[in-house]
This record gives sequence, C-alpha cells and structure tokens, in this order.
Amino acid sequence: MSVDAPPPPASQEEGACHGGRETFQAAARAAGKGGTMDRLLADYPRGPHDQPQSMCPAFGSLRVGLRMRRVATILSGSACCVYGLTFTSHFYGARRSVGYVPFNSETLVTGKLFEDIRDAVVASAKPDELDAIVVINLCVPTASGVPLDLLPKQIDGVRVIGIDVPGFGVPTHAEAKDVLAGAMLRYARGEAEAGPVARPRGEIPGLPTVAPIGELFPGDPPGIGAMLAPMGLALAPQTPAREWRDLYGALDCSVAAALHPFYTASVREFRAAGRPVVGSGPVGLDGTAAWLEAIGRAANVPAEAVDRAKARALPGIRAAIEASPIRARITVSGYEGSELLVARLLVEAGAEVPYVGTACPRTEWSDPDRDWLEARGVHVQYRASLEQDMAAMRDVRPDLALGTTPLVQAAKEAGTPALYFTNMVSARPLFGAAGAGAMAGIVASQTRGAERFSRMVSFFNGVGTKEGAGYGWQTPPQDPPGFRDRMKRARALRAKAEEATGS
Ligand code: SF4
Repeated sequence: MSVDAPPPPASQEEGACHGGRETFQAAARAAGKGGTMDRLLADYPRGPHDQPQSMCPAFGSLRVGLRMRRVATILSGSACCVYGLTFTSHFYGARRSVGYVPFNSETLVTGKLFEDIRDAVVASAKPDELDAIVVINLCVPTASGVPLDLLPKQIDGVRVIGIDVPGFGVPTHAEAKDVLAGAMLRYARGEAEAGPVARPRGEIPGLPTVAPIGELFPGDPPGIGAMLAPMGLALAPQTPAREWRDLYGALDCSVAAALHPFYTASVREFRAAGRPVVGSGPVGLDGTAAWLEAIGRAANVPAEAVDRAKARALPGIRAAIEASPIRARITVSGYEGSELLVARLLVEAGAEVPYVGTACPRTEWSDPDRDWLEARGVHVQYRASLEQDMAAMRDVRPDLALGTTPLVQAAKEAGTPALYFTNMVSARPLFGAAGAGAMAGIVASQTRGAERFSRMVSFFNGVGTKEGAGYGWQTPPQDPPGFRDRMKRARALRAKAEEATGS
C-alpha cells in the first residue's frame, strides 16, 4: 500500500488563510511572542503534514469554552475568521453568544486593540453570571503580539484566561482544545495549591478516581466508571471540563487517563500535580484488558481487584464482538485523535484495516495502540495529510472508508461506501461492550449499501463535473455571439477614458 501522496497543494502550503506561515511566525516572534511560539511548536510537533487541512484550529478552543457552564468567550481576530468560527459554533449548537473585539490597522499597531480587549473583559466580568472569561487571540493579533498575558488574572473573582491559538502555531482543532484545557488546568492548579477550592458536583467522597482526558461520547464515561468500580475506583470529571469546579476534581484524581492522546499541555498539568498518566483506552478485548491492568498498576490496586474488573468487563465485550463479526476491509482516517482506538476495535471484530491515518501527532499515549496495530500489519500514519488518506483509500480499495468530509466525498464519487468519522463514528460509544456493538452496527449498515452506491454512481454519472457543474447545461456552454469582443472593446474604452481624466 502506498501513502506516498503528492504534497498538499501550494495553496495550502503557502496561500489560503494559513498563507505565509513563516512570515506570521517571524512576525509573532518579533512582536514578543517567541515564548508562546516555542511552547506551541514543542507541544504540537510538526510532521509530514503540518498545516491545518480542516477547519480553523481555533474552533477547538472556542468549542471547549462554549461547552462550559458560566464561562464567556471573547475572540480577537479578523472579522472573516470570527464570522467563520461563530458560524461553525452555532452550527454545532453552541446556543451561546461569542464576544468579539474588532480591530483595524490603527488599533492594531498603536496597542489600542489590547486596551479594547481589556475594556471588553472588564465590562463582561460579572461574578454572579460567570466563573471565567476566555480571550482567544487568532492569527493576526498573535502575529502582532497582542499581549493577553497582561490582562488582569481575575476581576471581582471572575478568572481571565488569555490564550494564543494561531493557525500558524496549532496544527489541528483537536490540539487547540488542549491549548485551552491546559491553560485552565494550570490556572486551577495554582488556585488549588493556594488554598481550599470548591468540590465538583456529584463527587463520591472517599474513592480514588481516574480522570479521563478527551471529549467522549456521553455514554462512554458511565461505561468506563462501571469498568473501574470493581477496582474500587471512581470516575473523576473529564478534561476538557464542563464546569470550572470540575477542574479541581480532575486534578485531584489518582490517575489521569489520556484516552485521546494529544492533550500534551493538559498532561503537563496532571503531571505537575503529581498524577500518573496512562495512555490508550478500554477498546475491544485486548485493549480493555491492557488498559485495566495499566490503570490498576498506576493506582496501586491489588492484582485480585484488577482480575475482578477484567472478569466483569471482558465477557460482555467478547459476546458483543462474537455476535456481530465484521467481514470487511476498512480504511480509517480523521482528526479527532481516537482513530487508532477505532482501528483497534475494528481489527478485533474481524475487519481488515490496512491503513489508519490521524491528523494528530505521535505521542507516548497512543504508543500501546500503535504497537498493537503495527504488529497486525496496519500502517499507522500520524499527521496524515488528506492526500495520504486519499492515496491509501485508492490503493487498498476498501469496502468502507471512514474519514473526513473531503475523503468521504471522494469515496462516494468512486462508489465506495464511506462514513464521516466526526459525525458518525465519534457520535457513538467506543469503549467496552457498548462500543463493540455500536461499531459492528455502523459497519454492517454501511457495507450492506455497497450495491446502492454503485447504482448511484451510474445514475449520477457526470453530474456536477466539468460542463455539467452549472445548472441546466447539457453540452459545453457557449459564449453569446460577439460577447468577448464587446467586453474587450468596453474595457479598452474605459481604460482610455481613465487615462484621459487621470483618475
Ligand atoms: S484565525 Fe488563522 S487559521 Fe483561523 S481562519 Fe483566521 S487566518 Fe485562518
């Protein structure tokens, strides 16, 4: 199988909204953001593909803030970027206003923009409504050195978190979630070290806890909690948190579980709080057994309790896998960070998975999954580009392609059943028996439709391509007779007239 795809088009390397990455980075450093750029480059290392090929990365941070109770978010960036980000946030059901501090070249270069941001934060800091305000610098204010670190740390008890999330420093929106989650954990850790803090809601006092890291399907945390119970462990609040006080509960865990493996800044805070961090997750039989053992070791749980947990969790997973074996060749690609876990589950269920690509970087927390997959002949591509995902799909001709929107579109054009990873795979349980059952269900329903896809390809053959792309064209469109000549003469006359008046 070949993933030697051509490099991303020049428009992605040099143009589009990420245009002039090197120039932006140099400008940010010259404007005093050298420390920020060094940190971002260290936390989110580049790879064969180092540019966002999906949505604006800042959406990850925006989404994390918008999903938290009593947290307001203010964007500082170009109006077009803010338009796109707020549109997307409402498309995904934010139901919350996003603050915006506009700028022009004058307020940017004179430093007035920073004063405007500070005024907006002061005006928004209402302690009866908010626990925290998040301010996000997008590309241009970051490159211009707008110093969010000079904002007050809190106003009347409302915490102020300022972060830089430029597209030229954070490769994916997944990692941008970590930028904000890590900044919040850092702030909360400082508070917890300084004195007493609020308890999270629903805490079960007395039990050591495991803090999951990653945005999970809502049914997964209770399932993981049930798997942990025989070891005398409970579930701590998730990272990214849904409420400020949850941050203290997460940091107070016995073990942090990096279920999504790209939360580098968040893991740094857990480690600074003295918590061990375990990678991978409870997927399939092997994955669940190994994960329960790793958690048990990290939490100093007796071996008998780990065996009890395995004895309770594994039979249900085995039954779910045996009830719905998967007989299909599947390629997996996405930018959520859970791609390797999904691939493991598919392989255990009997699928042939020649390729898994993730836009996220390689980290130590996905090493167990990478080792397991590679031992079974799966090609694992970190920082995968769309071009590599496409090349792999065309090469192995899968029965089902799980991937990003453009990959799914290309697959369907070729008559290959395909599913959008984010909306279809990430929106279902992944862990334990529920995950095994759900995955088999998705694959079965889609691969059954293979014949329907071939019929669709022949039915729509040619529609929407070349001259068929316009409404109503059956043949190549013809210019109206004489149109080009008339336009050419009109342009010449206009140029002559402008020259005459010196406009
Ligand atoms: S903030 Fe940067 S990466 Fe995001 S849309 Fe604007 S220019 Fe593009």
